Amino acid sequence: MATSCVKLSADVYLVCLNHALSTEREEVMGLLIGEIDQKRVSHISAVIMLRRSDKRKDRVEISPEQLSDASTQAERLARTCGRPVRVLGWYHSHPHITVWPSHVDVQTQAMYQMMDDGFVGLIFSVFSEEASTKQGRIQVTCFQSINQSPEGEPPQYMRLEIPLHIVPSPRLSGPCLETLVQLPQILCQEELEAYSWTHQISDLDLLTRLHNGAVYTKSLCHIAEVVGGPLLQVLESRLSENKRKMMLLQKEREQLEQELKQLSTESS
Ligand SMILES: [Zn+2]
Repeated sequence: MATSCVKLSADVYLVCLNHALSTEREEVMGLLIGEIDQKRVSHISAVIMLRRSDKRKDRVEISPEQLSDASTQAERLARTCGRPVRVLGWYHSHPHITVWPSHVDVQTQAMYQMMDDGFVGLIFSVFSEEASTKQGRIQVTCFQSINQSPEGEPPQYMRLEIPLHIVPSPRLSGPCLETLVQLPQILCQEELEAYSWTHQISDLDLLTRLHNGAVYTKSLCHIAEVVGGPLLQVLESRLSENKRKMMLLQKEREQLEQELKQLSTESS
């Protein structure tokens, strides 16, 4: 039975979007954590970013190791938040292409649904532009796969759109903040991996080695500039905003306490 709708917490949406916007060149992916209720509504409350082993187009695949790691993380989360959360779906980005799942995406989705029929897929189309206004456009879709073939014939899968609602969240939850902070680390790790491959080539001349080193440094600087820096800025301004709110609340508390004291002396 298909999932009736997906409710995505706004802070999860923020994390996914940040991840999707972190690179224009390739697709990124991750897993969605949450719980499903009796009406088959999925409530997504956390997310795990995944490192991609194969960066070619349309090769968004989750390895069995990644899936089992994610389940362990979800179990840990379930213990800390006291809710029966588990891995409920996956997301990936479509930079410069339409939001609709490709043929491969629909096949991949069908495979996940064989393991868990409530599993859903989210796609974020980023770095596209509106044809008329040339303005940047971000689109999101939620889908499942359904088999169109009659009984006994080889399966033919089609996309089934699942209604998606973004639910306001009053704050950035702890797990979402942790995932968000991991993003620059994941990106740096990927660059390091790519750079270490060049070390395996034995007969590189000095100039090429220097060049590779420079490319690596440039990539790290780029990550610091477009991901790390802005993230730090956002978190710092959140912190000062929270401090300001805390002071206001503190003042309000003192005032209320004073009023309470006055009331109690008046009544006695
Ligand atoms: Zn895709």
